[in-house]
This record gives sequence, C-alpha cells and structure tokens, in this order.
Amino acid sequence: MSISEKSAAGVKTNVSTKNGMIQSGSFRVIAGPCTVESYDQFVASASAVKQAGYEYVRGGAFKPRTSPYSFQGLGEEGLKILSEVAGDLGLKAVTEVMDAEDIELVMEHAQIIQIGARNMANFSLLKRIGAAIAGTDHGVVLKRGFASTVEEWLLAAEYITKEGGENVVLCERGIRTFETSTRFTLDLSAVIVAKRLTDLPVIVDPSHAAGRRDLVIPLSKASVAAEADGLIVESHHEPQEALCDAEQALPVEALMGLRETLRPFASAMGREVL
Ligand code: PEP
Ligand code: MN
Repeated sequence: MSISEKSAAGVKTNVSTKNGMIQSGSFRVIAGPCTVESYDQFVASASAVKQAGYEYVRGGAFKPRTSPYSFQGLGEEGLKILSEVAGDLGLKAVTEVMDAEDIELVMEHAQIIQIGARNMANFSLLKRIGAAIAGTDHGVVLKRGFASTVEEWLLAAEYITKEGGENVVLCERGIRTFETSTRFTLDLSAVIVAKRLTDLPVIVDPSHAAGRRDLVIPLSKASVAAEADGLIVESHHEPQEALCDAEQALPVEALMGLRETLRPFASAMGREVL
C-alpha cells in the first residue's frame, strides 16, 4: 500500500501501550521541568505535577544542549533525585538517555526513556534501547528529529520494535522552518499522518515546538483535536529561574488549570485526560 492509500484507511484512535502509559480513550499528560536541577527544585516542580493530578513526571539528567557551555544536567546524581522524588510522590519518571552506555542506569531510575530529537537517527542507540526494554514494562518516547520526515521517524521507531522493544510512543516536537516567531514549527499534520500509518501512539511536545509559554496551552488544545494520544509539557515551580528552557516552562497555576482547559476538547474527542 502506498502512503496515500494507507492514509485513506483513517486515523487510529484506540491505540494503547501494554505498560498502561497510553490507554485507549484517554489523553495522557506528562509534565515536569526540562531538567533536574537540584533536590529542592525537583521536589517543588514534581509536587505540582502530582497536585495537578498527573501520573508521569519528566526531568532530564543527561541534557542534549546545543552549546557545550550550557548546563549539561546532573547526570547520575540527577537520575537519583528523579527516582527518589518520583518514587516518594508515587509518580512514574520520564528521562532522556543520550549514550548507549547509560541505558541500564537510566532504566534503573526511570520507567520511560526519552530519545531526543537530536538522537532520533542514532540507529545504534535505538537498537540498543529496543533490546534493553524488550520484555519489560519500560517504555520509550521517541521524539521526531527536527529535520526528519514522518517516514524517517516511523522507521526510527521500527529500529526499536524490531529488537523486541514494545511500549514505543512517538512524539512530535516541532520541526525547523523559516519561521522565527516560534522556536520550531509544530507539525500537527505529521501527528495525523503518523496516526494513519502506524499503530503506535503519538503524543505532542508543545513546549519545545513553541519555545514560549504563552503558546503551550493553545497548542495543547490543538493537539487534542488533531487526535494526539497525549502531551509532554515542561513546567517549573519558578519558571524564570529554570536553568534550561526557562521561556517555555509553564508556571504552577497554568499546569493546575491545564486539565480543566483540555477537558471539553478531550471529551469532544471521546477521551479522558489522565
Ligand atoms: C527535552 O525534552 O528537554 C528535549 C531536549 O527535547 P528535544 O529532544 O525534543 O529537543
Ligand atoms: Mn527542554
């Protein structure tokens, strides 16, 4: 079947992952700071995620920063803070792995492994992760490379599934265009196209796409309407002080209001916000 023939088959809405992260009829929200900065920062930011009623908290320990002079994350110390705080709050942890040699360590501290946009085409990393999560409850969030086509993104996911990795979730996080008013351009058509071509769930990261907090909630609403299966959003208890991606972090009040804001959109799509 050609891509257009497959597309005509329609969007798949009842997708789920075996580990419960994505459930049919639901819209999963993952929230939390870009980076684990300190114990106190992560407790404060993750507590807000818990209070807002979400079950998955994000926080980077290994950060793929554009500049080598920017804060690179706390590494193993950050992972320890992440798992301790998430465990205390009863949340599941989502964090990025950049190096194959850190996969086991990251899996000890987090249930969901994020593969960043800059590593989407790191095929040896994808294969190693696929083999590592095979037969486990761990999941992967595979960001779309910001210069990758939908087909390249789906094939990248197949590097993971081919090794036996299940619980793979695709994440659209914006692509590079000529537009300068946003950090990247959120490609919602890619969400719809991907959902016609694969059974894998597709979530949206409006934070990195926009690069500015005032667009995160409108883009979140649009993501629900575009049949996405969830969101990963950045939030911080003191956004202005964030060491990474400060301009795009939602403050606590906005995070608290997000569920109510999304509810009518989700219910129109036959989904419940988790
Ligand atoms: C992130 O989630 O903080 C991140 C670096 O994302 P991306 O790989 O999409 O840039
Ligand atoms: Mn970030």
